Amino acid sequence: MISSHENTECRVCSVQLSIHQRLKGICDNVECRRKDVPYQGAIRRREIQKNIRNRVPAAWNDNSTITLLPYNSAVLQPLEQPRRELFEIYLAKVVKAAFAHNLTGAAPSQETSAPVNGTTPEQAQLPVLGQACGLCGGHCCNTGGTSAWLETASIERVLSHHPDFVQQGAEQLTAHYLSFLPTVSNAGSCVFHASEGCNLPKELRSNVCNQFICNGLADLVNKLPDSTSSSIVASVSNLSIERVALMTRTEIIAENGTLLKVKQIN
Ligand SMILES: [Zn+2]
Repeated sequence: MISSHENTECRVCSVQLSIHQRLKGICDNVECRRKDVPYQGAIRRREIQKNIRNRVPAAWNDNSTITLLPYNSAVLQPLEQPRRELFEIYLAKVVKAAFAHNLTGAAPSQETSAPVNGTTPEQAQLPVLGQACGLCGGHCCNTGGTSAWLETASIERVLSHHPDFVQQGAEQLTAHYLSFLPTVSNAGSCVFHASEGCNLPKELRSNVCNQFICNGLADLVNKLPDSTSSSIVASVSNLSIERVALMTRTEIIAENGTLLKVKQIN
């Protein structure tokens, strides 16, 4: 609780505030307002962390760090026909281009890479990350829209791994992809974003989707350096704590006490 005494000075530069400025605790200086953004963010994170520690079983607090993840708050609804059609048109184009590339005998083109926020390829394989992803539910998936991040190079890679797909032809591969479109999907998210996550098998996904490690997951990797470390992982939407679990490298304990062994992600 900020006392009325503290409110008389700007919380960034300590200049005396007018009566109106005191309501916000900050002066009108542009520089103060710029510096205040990370300051307010840090205050919010501390507040959320305190709330998380109050909410979880006491034993969790003994030695565990806290990792904050985003939360996918999209509602489930039938995949709309216009979005399905946009994807179909886009997919047919990249599949056709990939088959043309394959005919030339050239190696698959370089695919677009995604941010990994400082994690190594080995760290990215940490199986618990898949479960942490599930706790969020795919906040990042909405960037997939009606392209699912698929590009010609993605299809070229799929063809290079599957001579059978080359044999069957472009129309068959297009149909294969479309067969994974869910009937119920997350509103406004990627067309493949179903109730339980991505509906596409991992090998058919774009490199961007397979590679991306969000800030929260990278933070979790750093907080689980060895088999004895544990972290309270919470997915948070604005200021609201949506889901919480205690994670080690090999086990997950849900808030209701259910113990899950970490499975290999796919
Ligand atoms: Zn100021």
